[in-house]
Formats: sequence, C-alpha cells, structure tokens
Amino acid sequence: MIKKFYEPKNIWFSGGVESSLLLYFLLSQQPNTKTHIFTIVERRTNYHMLRPVNNVIQWCINKTSNLNIDHIINYIEDKNENEKYLEIMYNEYKNGYVTCFGVNANPPHMQWDGPKYDPRSSKGKKSVWMHNKSIYAPFINIDKKDIVNLYKKNNLVELYNLTFTCDEPVAGNKPCKECGACKEREYGEGR
Ligand SMILES: [Zn+2]
Repeated sequence: MIKKFYEPKNIWFSGGVESSLLLYFLLSQQPNTKTHIFTIVERRTNYHMLRPVNNVIQWCINKTSNLNIDHIINYIEDKNENEKYLEIMYNEYKNGYVTCFGVNANPPHMQWDGPKYDPRSSKGKKSVWMHNKSIYAPFINIDKKDIVNLYKKNNLVELYNLTFTCDEPVAGNKPCKECGACKEREYGEGR
C-alpha cells in the first residue's frame, strides 16, 4: 500500500485510525530509516490521547521490533494553536525528511462544499505527494471504509481496537458517539 522511499520520516501521529495504520506500515516496511513520531496534546481536553498513543506505539514496536524511532510530544495550552505547533515542528525537522500524513478522504455523504479548498474532499483524484515531494499522504484518495478494510486485509484488527478517534470523549475516555469523528468511524465500520 505505501511507497518505498529512502529518506527518514516524520509522521503526525494522534493514535487515530489513519495515523496508526500509517505508523505500522512505515515501521514494518521501512525499518532502516529513522522515524520521528510527532504528537500534539492539548493539556486540558486531549489528555486522554496519551493512552491510545502510547498503546499503539508499543504495539507497533512489539510487532515490528523496530526501535529506530523518536517520539516527540508537544503539550500545548490551546487547541487553536495546533496548526501553529504543527508548522513549528515541521520546520524544525523537515530537512532531509519526508513528512507522512494519514489524512484520508471524507465519506461521499460528508462532503463540505464551502469555498475553501478541502484536502479531504473525495471529489477528484489527488496526488499522494505534496510540497515538492516533501509530504507523503498515501490515504488521501481513500475513505474510512477503505481504511478499515486495509486493517482487515492486513490482519491488524487488534491494532485497530487500540486506536481512538473521538473529539469529545465522555467520562474521561469513552467515545461520545455524537461528534464528526465518531460518526465517521461508524461509517468506516459499516454500522
Ligand atoms: Zn465522539
């Protein structure tokens, strides 16, 4: 599924469905280059992310025996600053590295038709390489259903069950089943 390339990698990693699958593919299929794993955690509301994030990384290490990684966690105060920190980290580590994104296409019925360019639009085929081949997004043309099928096809359901997607968990760490991320996950699972 993913292309072979020889540069070291940066991956944006949230413990969600796509970034976990991408992390597993990178560590299992391209073990000879360094992988920087970047996680941004908003102190107040995203603290629950640390459990799935750590569980997924541990699972991938156990399965692949690949320890050629650095995990860099950036704690921020305000989730509106997420993009600013992504850019700071990207600039700090981009030289010579390919940055890998798990971004995927929206389900066909969840299109956003605003004037702004939506990178997750499922209309039209987009290149998996961006910014002069410094960014690689292998899932950009496939949606959550396809991603869930990749888990099944590659015998990774155990990994899938460690991932977490909800934006507004209840009781600390239970999926709310109401937010966009929960709805998309339901769509992916065919429920
Ligand atoms: Zn939710």
